[in-house]
Parts: sequence; C-alpha cells; structure tokens
Amino acid sequence: MSSLVYCIHYKEGCKWTDELRKLQGHLNTCKYDAVPCTNQCAAMIPRVLMEDHLFYTCPKRRTRCEFCNKEFTGEMLEGHVGSCQYEPVFCENKCGFKIHRRFVTNHRMNECAKRLVACRYCQKEFVYDTLQNHTAKCPRYPLPCPNRCEQSKIPREDMESHLKEECPSVSLNCMFRDMGCKFKGPRFALEQHMEESTNSHLILTSDLVSRQQHQISTLQNALQNLTLNTSGVLIWKIADYAQKMAEAKSKEGYELCSAPFNTSQYGYKLMATLFLNGNGAGEGSHMSVYIRILPGEYDSLLTWPFSHTVSFTLYDQVVSQEKPCNIVESFVPDPSWKNFQRPSKEPDSLGFGFPRFVSHENLKKQSYIKDDTIFIKVQVDSSKIVTV
Ligand SMILES: [Zn+2]
Ligand SMILES: [Zn+2]
Ligand SMILES: [Zn+2]
Ligand SMILES: [Zn+2]
Ligand SMILES: [Zn+2]
Ligand SMILES: [Zn+2]
Ligand SMILES: [Zn+2]
Repeated sequence: MSSLVYCIHYKEGCKWTDELRKLQGHLNTCKYDAVPCTNQCAAMIPRVLMEDHLFYTCPKRRTRCEFCNKEFTGEMLEGHVGSCQYEPVFCENKCGFKIHRRFVTNHRMNECAKRLVACRYCQKEFVYDTLQNHTAKCPRYPLPCPNRCEQSKIPREDMESHLKEECPSVSLNCMFRDMGCKFKGPRFALEQHMEESTNSHLILTSDLVSRQQHQISTLQNALQNLTLNTSGVLIWKIADYAQKMAEAKSKEGYELCSAPFNTSQYGYKLMATLFLNGNGAGEGSHMSVYIRILPGEYDSLLTWPFSHTVSFTLYDQVVSQEKPCNIVESFVPDPSWKNFQRPSKEPDSLGFGFPRFVSHENLKKQSYIKDDTIFIKVQVDSSKIVTV
C-alpha cells in the first residue's frame, strides 16, 4: 500500500489524488498546471486559462481596434488605444462636444464654444460664447457719430470726448450763455462767433456785473438792517487811539464815523461822527462829536423835525471803587435847524453836536484813554418818541 498524495495545484482547486508515481503523468494534463503560451508570447499559463489568455490578454494575439477596425497584436493595441484617431473623445474645454480624436484640434481652434478668441476691436481674449456679450460693451467697438459728422466710426469709449471736444456737427451753446448770449451752433460756427462777438460779450458781462453789484448792495442793506442796533443807545469803542489821533493831526477834516443805529426798531436812523483833532471852534485843541440823521427806512412814518434830546458821554475808565468822572454833554434839538428836518436820500454832511466836547488837555486826565482806547456813549432820550 503506497500512500496517496494530492495534486500540487490542490490549492487552486484540483481535486486529483493518487499515488506519487502517477503525479507526473497527471500534471501533463492537469487543468491547473501552467504551460507555455501556444502563441509563443513566452508566458506560462495554466491550461484552464489558456483560452482566455489567447483571446483577451496574450500580447501576441490578433485583434482589431474597436474604433478604426484595424488589426493589431495585443501588445500593439495597447499602444494604439489612447491615440486612435477614430476614438470619440470629449473636448478638453468642457464644451460638451464628443468627436473623433482626429477632429479635436480643428474643433478647439475653430468651433469650440469655449475656445479663446481675441476681440477684433480691443484684441483682448474672450471665451467664444461670451464674445457677443463683450462686443455689446467693448470700449473699442466702433459706433457712428449721433450727429452724423464725417468721422463715421468712433470707438465707444471715445464718443464722449468726440462729442465734447471734436465733433464738428454737435450744436454748442456760447460759453457766455449765462450772461445772456443766445448763440447756439456747430463747433466751427461757435469759434467764429467767439471771435466776432468780443464786444457784445463784454457788454453782456458788464451788464451782469452791474446787476450783481446791485444785488450785493441790496443784500448788504438787508444784512445791515438785520444787525442794526435799535436800542437808541450807541456805545462807540474807538481803539488804536494814538494812531488815529496822529492821523487826525496830519490830515485836515479826518473824521471817524460810527456804525448807524436806530432810536427804536422803526425809529430814526442816526450816526455819530468824531473829529479827534477838533473841528470848527475846537479845531486843533478839542475833540468834537456830532450826531447826524441818516435817511431811514421808516422816515415817512416819523415826526419831523427830529426833536429828541441827544447826550454824549465820554467814559472815565477808572478801576472799580473810585468814582468815575464821565464827561457828559447833551442838547435838545432846535426845531428851526435844517439838520433836524427829514433827511433827503443824499446824506448831507451836516451834523449837530459839540465842536468843543472835550479839550485835548482834559482828555489826558482821568482814565479817559485806557489801553489806547476810548468809549463814547450816544444816547437818544426815547421817552418822547412815539413809536409807530
Ligand atoms: Zn492537478
Ligand atoms: Zn500568449
Ligand atoms: Zn483604432
Ligand atoms: Zn469644445
Ligand atoms: Zn473688445
Ligand atoms: Zn461727430
Ligand atoms: Zn455768444
């Protein structure tokens, strides 16, 4: 009794078992034993797989490319697959197209919707299917001039400056329009108009200036009325006294005028004037003060002649505690004086007051001048003024 052995291909699935001396003989037919490929590709192939090998994987097998139908050996086909010109492939630009490999280059260059093309107007590159969108707003896209001038095609981005600066057909306003010039015409005519109309433009300009001047003085009056002192009391501060006094001494008739003030909101309009170096009887020795009645807004409603007591006070600017020694002068207007009649529109130079208000000598006393400044109060006794 000799012992039994299994086939060496037991693990692959051969169920053969017999005496050892019969194994070699079995292997000559064992389905699982490898033999050289019958096509001489040099591979060792188990008999059971040989048919598959010869048909599908043997590099020496004869086969055809499924796309171009040419005959190849298995190993040649491997090299052919991936370059077969008849294989349908998707376009690499992801346009969705599937075409024979041999047409791909032409497609990518000339047909693909996703190919890059240069805009023929601005030369920038765009994906083909966005080009139309781009053209609709391409800055270099040529447009006809809306004025139909001879410059027929103007790039979109240059149109504005063409119309503004170049177009010979655009109708332009004369640049003196705001001054009242009505001219309007094409550029060449405007240039000629400008040359020919210097004079009339100058007249228009000067008219405008005088209109504006009138407006300015109206505004100034309105402003002055808004800020007008209507208390009937003026405290007049005269700073830089020394310098003004020196000027008064060197210039004959040097007169300082106060801001105008009203005796009440709708009252008389007055102004004080001051001759530092004196005037009339006080010339050279005294400081003279006057009051002048100015043409006012409400003169027609007021009683004439002006008949209210006016007082002038020069302040003694003493330090506190000491009793100030102010200089006060006042007068009741004489109704027969022309100065107190209703003033005409032309303000006259006549005033009324005190040519010898205070002598230069007295001015130096007390503290009338302090910090190079004097203060004069002008007060109208309003008790008798009937307000309108
Ligand atoms: Zn076997
Ligand atoms: Zn083979
Ligand atoms: Zn092929
Ligand atoms: Zn494509
Ligand atoms: Zn473009
Ligand atoms: Zn034009
Ligand atoms: Zn003009």
